Amino acid sequence: MSVLAFPAPPVRPDDESLRRDVRTFLGTALAQRTPLERAESWNGFDRDFSRALGQRGWLGMTWPREFGGHDRTAYERYVVMEETLAAGAPVAAHWIADRQSGPTILRYGTEAQKRAILPRIAAGECTFCIGMSEPDAGSDLAATRTRAEKQGDGTWRVSGTKLWTTYAHEADYMILFCRTSGTPADRQKGTSQMLVDMRDTPGVTVRPVHDLMGQHHFNEVHFEDAVLPADALLGTEGQGWAQVMGELAFERSGPERFLSSIQLLIELIGALQGSEGAAAQQAVGRLFAHLVTLRHMSRGVATLLERGEDASVHAAIVKDLGATFEQDLPDIARSLVDQEPDLESTSRFAAVLAYTAMAAPAFSLRGGTREILRGIIARQLGLR
Ligand SMILES: Cc1cc2nc3c(=O)[nH]c(=O)nc-3n(C[C@H](O)[C@H](O)[C@H](O)COP(=O)(O)OP(=O)(O)OC[C@H]3O[C@@H](n4cnc5c(N)ncnc54)[C@H](O)[C@@H]3O)c2cc1C
Repeated sequence: MSVLAFPAPPVRPDDESLRRDVRTFLGTALAQRTPLERAESWNGFDRDFSRALGQRGWLGMTWPREFGGHDRTAYERYVVMEETLAAGAPVAAHWIADRQSGPTILRYGTEAQKRAILPRIAAGECTFCIGMSEPDAGSDLAATRTRAEKQGDGTWRVSGTKLWTTYAHEADYMILFCRTSGTPADRQKGTSQMLVDMRDTPGVTVRPVHDLMGQHHFNEVHFEDAVLPADALLGTEGQGWAQVMGELAFERSGPERFLSSIQLLIELIGALQGSEGAAAQQAVGRLFAHLVTLRHMSRGVATLLERGEDASVHAAIVKDLGATFEQDLPDIARSLVDQEPDLESTSRFAAVLAYTAMAAPAFSLRGGTREILRGIIARQLGLR
C-alpha cells in the first residue's frame, strides 16, 4: 500500500514570506475584480495580469535560469498557484503553459525549442493550448486519428480535428498529440507530440464551441494539410504516449483541483453571517475539514514532484476527491441559504452560486473524467 502514502510537505518559513508578497500584490492587482469575476478565475484571460506575474518571477518558477526560470522549488510555485486561485485571479492566459506545456518542453524539447519558448512563458508573454481530445478520442486518447505525415523535406503535413481545445482562439502555440505512424488500431504506438505555431500555420482553422453558459472558451481545431516545420516534433517520434502521460500528471496535481468553487465558499460564509444555525455551522465545518485534507494531500503531491517521483496515482486521487468537493459545494450552499441562483443578481451569493452551479459539471470531465481516474487508481491498487 506504500503507493498511497502522501508525504507531508516540510514547513519552510521562506514559503510563508513569499505568500505574504503574493497576497500583497494580488490585493492591489485584483482590487476591482467582482465576486462573479473571481468565481470565473479558471476562465479569466488577461495577458496584462499574466505579464505582471511574469515580471515578479512567479511564472516558470521551478525552471533553470538559463531558460528564463527562477530555480525555485515546487512548493514556492504551489504557494503562488494557491494564492492566485484562492483570490480568483484571471489565470487563463498563462497557466496551461506554466503548468504543463512549459514543463513538457523543458523535459523533452530540443535546446532551440527551450531557448525560443520557455523564457517567453516565464515572462507571461506566451499562451498555450492543449491539443489532445478529438471527436472520437477524448478519454480514449490512444484512438487519436489526427495524423502528421513526414514529408521528403523533413516537414510534417497534418490533417485531423481536435475538440474542446480551451483558448485555442487566443493561444500562441498548441502542443498537438497525433499519430505519426500506423493506425488507431496500433493504440499507443506511433503517436507523437508536435509544437504548433497557432499564429502562423496555414491550414489550421479554429471554430468556437459554446459551453453551458453560452460562453466561448472551447474550440474545435481543424488541421487541413497544415505544414509544420521539421523542428516542430517535440521529443521522440513514436514516444508521444509516454510523453503525454507525464504531461497529464502535471495537469492533475495542483491546487486548482479543489479551489475552483472557493469563491462560492467565501460567499456562502458571507451570506450566513449572523443567521447561521447549528446545521449551517456543521455543514461549513465539514467543508473546511475536506478542504484542509485535500490541501494536505495536494501538497503531498508537490513533495513527490519536488523529489522527481512519479505522482500520477496520487494526482488522480486528489483530482477525483477534489472534483467531488467542488461539485458538492453548489448543492450544499443552496440548501443553506434561501436565495435563487441568478447571474444578474446584485446579491454576490446568488450570482456566484449561479455561475458555480453551471460550471461545476465540467469539473469532473476536464483533465480526465472521474471514471478514467478511478480506473487508474484501481489499476495501481491491483484491482484491475
Ligand atoms: C472545461 C473543459 C476544458 C477542456 N479543455 C480541454 C483542452 O484544452 N484540450 C483537450 O484536449 N481537451 C479538453 N477537454 C476535454 C476533456 O479532456 C475530455 O472531455 C475528456 O477527456 C473526456 O472525453 P470525451 O468528452 O470525449 O468523453 P468520452 O471519452 O466520450 O467519455 C464519455 C463518458 O464515458 C466514460 N468513459 C469513457 N471511457 C471509459 C472507460 N474506459 N471506462 C469507464 N468509463 C469510461 C467517461 O468517463 C465519460 O463519463 C476539456 C473538457 C472540459 C470539460
